[in-house]
Amino acid sequence: MDQVWAALDRRVGEMTAEVVELTRDLVRFPTVNPPGEAYTPCAEYVGRRLARSGFDVRYIRGEATPGDSDRYPRTNVVARREGRRAGPTVHFNSHIDVVEAGDGWTVDPFAGVVRDGKVFGRGTCDMKGGLAASIVAVEAYLAVVPDFPGAIEISGTVDEESGGFGGVAYLARQGFFSRPRVDHVIIPEPLNKDRICLGHRGVWWAEIETRGEIAHGSMPFLGDCAVRHMGAVLEAFERELFPALDRRQTKMPVVPEGARRSTINLNSIHGGQMEASADDYTGLPSPNVPDSCRLTIDRRFLIEEDPTQVKGEVIAILDRLKATRPKFDYALREIMEVLPTMTERDAPVARAVAAGIEAVFGRAPEYVISPGTYDQKHIARIGHLHDCIAYGPGILDLAHRPDEFIVIDDMIESARVMAFALDRLLTGQAPPS
Ligand SMILES: [Zn+2]
Repeated sequence: MDQVWAALDRRVGEMTAEVVELTRDLVRFPTVNPPGEAYTPCAEYVGRRLARSGFDVRYIRGEATPGDSDRYPRTNVVARREGRRAGPTVHFNSHIDVVEAGDGWTVDPFAGVVRDGKVFGRGTCDMKGGLAASIVAVEAYLAVVPDFPGAIEISGTVDEESGGFGGVAYLARQGFFSRPRVDHVIIPEPLNKDRICLGHRGVWWAEIETRGEIAHGSMPFLGDCAVRHMGAVLEAFERELFPALDRRQTKMPVVPEGARRSTINLNSIHGGQMEASADDYTGLPSPNVPDSCRLTIDRRFLIEEDPTQVKGEVIAILDRLKATRPKFDYALREIMEVLPTMTERDAPVARAVAAGIEAVFGRAPEYVISPGTYDQKHIARIGHLHDCIAYGPGILDLAHRPDEFIVIDDMIESARVMAFALDRLLTGQAPPS
């Protein structure tokens, strides 16, 4: 290990207590999304900390994005520190929102309990521990290499858990994630400390509605049952679509391995009268033939698949039913589409993080693809910046679970990896092996 990396290694190790305190402080802001609680104080906490480390700090509200209001402002923080001379910009992007705590906790989810070498709490793993690790990595780097070239940015952004529209997407539209402002982006999502996440599968959400005709339930032959028509859709999906998708394998290294193929989830189905609980109605239903049934599908697709084909195979099944099944009619409403994204393994940011992982763990990284999407999609699609990966501490399986935690040693080790990668990206030098 060269001198700079040895000094970084030491310096990060000296900051163990700091990374723990930082994580605990972040967890104590209950930034639950929805509705988007405590975003502003959490962003300001990050901003104050980075201002002390010499960063220029800006707060940018995702105005008029979903959920934005004066009660729940979508407050993002973007901090930038210029180096002494020209060079590339490296950006660490973390989301500060967390999902609701839910039931089943044995500790207070927002207290930042420390036990057995771990910090417990909602968002420790996903992904306030990653944010803390990246801040410590950058601060260690500033201490060891004060005359660095280029620039370093750290952002804390909102709403990742609900699609990122008030966070990274909003900032990307303003040019925050494009060249020449930024060259390399690391997103410290919890993909495990020795893995590099190159991207994610695509998503297509749609609602299918089958239509019928209302009639008295005692004489169903006088009407046309929309639920039975949906039954025909489900049966065709079972017979044709599910097996076809299951056979479709990908070269994308998705984890877990079960997601290394095309999938579809039937997210919800509603037909006929409202369920009693939905309307606080406790009486009996009235006898009607349902004239509408709606199915929401969540289709995850692969880099090898064309989105037109993804939609086309669903539409083909519906059209065939329309041609062959008496009175069958349907409507299709598209809800959301995200294209798959995958950074190349030999992209500069992937190579730099790989070198860091090799130095810290003495082995090559595992390259993975996330089964679900995260904010990389906005950086690639809106910012047109493709030198972007996810790398951070935290065990992926713990995200969104009760008693979520992050291992303190994992944060320190991944902070070392991030500091090494930062050095490599800014100076462009490969350390002697
Ligand atoms: Zn996350």
